[in-house]
Amino acid sequence: MTQVFNFSAGPAMLPPAVLRQAQQELLNWQNSGCSVMEVSHRGDEFMAVAEQAETDLRQLMQVPDNYHVLFTHGGGRAHFAAVPLNLSKPEDTSLHLVSGSWSKGAVSEAGKFNQPKVIGELTQKDGLDFMQQPSAEEIDQDAAYLHFCPNETVDGVAFDWLPQAGEVPLVADMSSCILSKPIDVSRYGVIYAGAQKNIGPSGLSVVIVRDDLLGRAQKYTPSIFDYNELATTRSMYNTPPTFSWYLAGLVFKWLLNEGGVAAIAKHNEAKAACLYNAIDQSDFYRSQIHPECRSIMNVPFQLSDPSLDDLFLTQAAEQGLVALKGHRFVGGMRASIYNAMSLEGVKRLVEFMRDFERRQG
Ligand code: PMP
Repeated sequence: MTQVFNFSAGPAMLPPAVLRQAQQELLNWQNSGCSVMEVSHRGDEFMAVAEQAETDLRQLMQVPDNYHVLFTHGGGRAHFAAVPLNLSKPEDTSLHLVSGSWSKGAVSEAGKFNQPKVIGELTQKDGLDFMQQPSAEEIDQDAAYLHFCPNETVDGVAFDWLPQAGEVPLVADMSSCILSKPIDVSRYGVIYAGAQKNIGPSGLSVVIVRDDLLGRAQKYTPSIFDYNELATTRSMYNTPPTFSWYLAGLVFKWLLNEGGVAAIAKHNEAKAACLYNAIDQSDFYRSQIHPECRSIMNVPFQLSDPSLDDLFLTQAAEQGLVALKGHRFVGGMRASIYNAMSLEGVKRLVEFMRDFERRQG
């Protein structure tokens, strides 16, 4: 069988070494005679897995002691609702930067629970998609929090700067960029991420929340989404997604063995540079995103002649380069190159792109 390089945006490829380990352990985990999916989440064995995963994530992201790490249900979107429920009252204003479809989705969900206000939107610079940093004056210091998505999975828009929010807690949806490069956790109030890109299987979400933001939830917040309840019960208020948690733990160990977040960041930069160079050096392909706002995780690109899209996708798939179809909102192509994607995979894609251009251009 041709080796497959999976460019899916999520659920995305996982490190092959992790999958092999899970396969080996599946039927007889830690000599228990059963799988990790079949043991009590409160038993000593699983509790050790849960604690180790948290310890490793804390080490990878240098999470300060005054932050709780929660492993919970509901993926990324659960927190579009959980954040306003936990951090605001119905009359409070929540501030939002809208740099693409996911941060837009967060605004509509917040509108059910508080008064969202958009203070920055995607604009154009030199004819390309660009996200402008809001000025400090635009950030109302009475707001409950400021929500943004530093890496937009669908649109491929990303930015490095942090809003100058003063005392207003920053809330970041890092579903598609968590663990891709070092960040300073102490600058954030809440970081959340659906797992299915850089962490593990879908359904699980990871939340990193500063202590002082706990205990403020609206009174009708479902307990399962109450960050305080989850922190107090060490994410075991109910039965957590145990297999996903275990697999996340294997991914964290893999990343530590790879040299941690700083090392993977270099790798990610190299992969992204390889792909963007190929796009920029050709008139056959183009990127709609300003170079200052390009994601290193999700790389949408267009063919100058969209009537060739289907042929491109079919021929790419024949060479084992799969899941390159762009999101239906954007069209064209999108290569998601999360932590688990090798440089070899990206080079193979670039070779194919050049070859396709030679044949069709
Ligand atoms: N936010 C971002 C940035 C995402 O990429 C996604 C999923 N692709 C979500 C939120 C929603 O995640 P989920 O489907 O796990 O709810």
